[in-house]
Amino acid sequence: MSRFERIVVVGGSLAGMNVIQELRRLGNSGGITLIGEEKVRSPYDRTELSKKLLTGSSDPDDLYLLTEEEIDELDLDLRLGRRATSLSLDPSRHTVTLDDGTVLEFDALVVATGSRARRPAFMGHLAGVHVLRTLPDALALRTELNSARDVVVVGAGFIGAEVAASVRTRGQSVTLVDPQPTPLGTVLGAIVGSHFADLHTSHGTDLELGVGVQELMGDGRVNGVRLTDGRILPADLVVVGVGGAPVTEWLDGSGVEVDNGVLCDDGGHTNVPGIYAVGDAARWYSDYFGAQVRSEHWNNATLQATVVAENLIAGTKRSTLSAVPSFWSDQFRKRTQMVGCPLPTDQVRFMSGAPGEERFVALYGRDDRVTGVVSFNSPRGLSKYQHLVTARASWSEAIGSA
Ligand SMILES: Cc1cc2nc3c(=O)[nH]c(=O)nc-3n(C[C@H](O)[C@H](O)[C@H](O)COP(=O)(O)OP(=O)(O)OC[C@H]3O[C@@H](n4cnc5c(N)ncnc54)[C@H](O)[C@@H]3O)c2cc1C
Repeated sequence: MSRFERIVVVGGSLAGMNVIQELRRLGNSGGITLIGEEKVRSPYDRTELSKKLLTGSSDPDDLYLLTEEEIDELDLDLRLGRRATSLSLDPSRHTVTLDDGTVLEFDALVVATGSRARRPAFMGHLAGVHVLRTLPDALALRTELNSARDVVVVGAGFIGAEVAASVRTRGQSVTLVDPQPTPLGTVLGAIVGSHFADLHTSHGTDLELGVGVQELMGDGRVNGVRLTDGRILPADLVVVGVGGAPVTEWLDGSGVEVDNGVLCDDGGHTNVPGIYAVGDAARWYSDYFGAQVRSEHWNNATLQATVVAENLIAGTKRSTLSAVPSFWSDQFRKRTQMVGCPLPTDQVRFMSGAPGEERFVALYGRDDRVTGVVSFNSPRGLSKYQHLVTARASWSEAIGSA
């Protein structure tokens, strides 16, 4: 049982549903209301939207994370297709208001409202211009890809690079545009980023790097992308992948502290008793970094969910998150994995393999500390070195012993 009788979870995707599943697994049988804006039969694997769903090797049915029976067993008051619009913290009554006017009282609240795709001003409102965050986004993009000739992907971060790889895997032409000199450069740095530039080029992606987007052109429908150097790329389909922003505006004015995500301690607790936040919408204190960080990755959402469920059951901060950030990305059927949070300017040492090879493991370091490990097509290599990141091992000793 939880100290809190009425728990409301806002956001019914990975993080929110994991909190609920963990609460039930730990024996909670109290009332749980789930408010979810997406009207889907189950949370789905968002990570495959840019990968298997786009290439056509998966369909929506393959992505659902729970069966209808599993959801029924959780015994929830389900409010799907409903959006929380505001939060009121009157001392006598804490309530969430929904977009249909319903007011729900709660003893504990979990904010799990995730991120939305950023929409830079140049996007405008032309047809044929897409972002990728939700299943409907992905299905609309996949449908339009069927008849697209000139695809331009703006943003060579992980989602943009994955979309470009999926378009090439479908056998269609694609140009990837980014102001950085390499794909993934802001995360992985120039040396490893160059490997991804070569990987894309060798699979036929056209790269336009070191140049930004001035405007999208067209009359009703997009027909070109004007770059900041004045050149125009023909385009009948544009995908903009320039990062995500936390969905927190419904908390404005409530008293819950928000600054690029809901600010939390290392147990997921906000500044308001009984209110927690998890996943992409949350910015937890990390002992590892000595700061509050927001991590938009699958593993982070599930780990935080477990911690919050344990703390909801205990009614105090029983658990904290000590894990170091980690994520994966799949491009051209090769998996890249990363543990840690290196800066692009960190030193890089290849512990096995090298850029351009079939597989490699790269260690990152700064100020004589190991800050991250990145493996390309080498899960065993990652396992071998990730403890150095967790332990903040000495960089000189780590590379000296290699
Ligand atoms: C295309 C794509 C590919 C990705 N690939 C990878 C990958 O390879 N590896 C990796 O580690 N991570 C990847 N990620 C990131 C990963 O999917 C996210 O970290 C994860 O989905 C976060 O889960 P979440 O529940 O916090 O947020 P979300 O999944 O964003 O869910 C938030 C939910 O809250 C709902 N919501 C929002 N506002 C309200 C409101 N006011 N009221 C009610 N409901 C609301 C939303 O509709 C949504 O259903 C990818 C993400 C995308 C978009």
